[in-house]
Amino acid sequence: MELPLRGGCVCGAIRYEIAQEPLRVYACHCKDCQRSTGSAFAIGVVVPSEALQLTGPDTQLVPNGITEGGRRKSLSACPKCGTRLFSDRRPDWRSRGMVRAVLGGTLDDTSWLRPTIHVWTRSAQPWVILPEGSAVYERSLQEAEKLALRPESTGPGDTD
Ligand SMILES: [Zn+2]
Ligand SMILES: [Zn+2]
Repeated sequence: MELPLRGGCVCGAIRYEIAQEPLRVYACHCKDCQRSTGSAFAIGVVVPSEALQLTGPDTQLVPNGITEGGRRKSLSACPKCGTRLFSDRRPDWRSRGMVRAVLGGTLDDTSWLRPTIHVWTRSAQPWVILPEGSAVYERSLQEAEKLALRPESTGPGDTD
């Protein structure tokens, strides 16, 4: 992978650069991601939010479902062509910094892209075969880590 990573929307109005190596790449098989991408899963490339630089018009927030915990999720989209580009800015539970998940399909070069984490696989489409060696979570990664820390917890999880 060569930095900066570059990508953008379908119409080309919005271009972005990612100056740092992504923290991780995951595939989200939740129903909201299936709906909003029109596909089987969304690919999230998690990057420190300060590493993402945009050029073009201001992005527009579009709804992307509600987490089990009741938080409204949204994605930032191109105001002209509607391409969804990245998630809300949010604290990363692991690195403690603020991150965004860039939608992997919007990168110019996806040749290096390998989701190694698969989340919400309980709603994965039945034909999807997860590569051997993947980290697989029936629900969200955050929930899996919370459960590992507090095995008695069954509280609602957050999602990507
Ligand atoms: Zn566009
Ligand atoms: Zn999802």
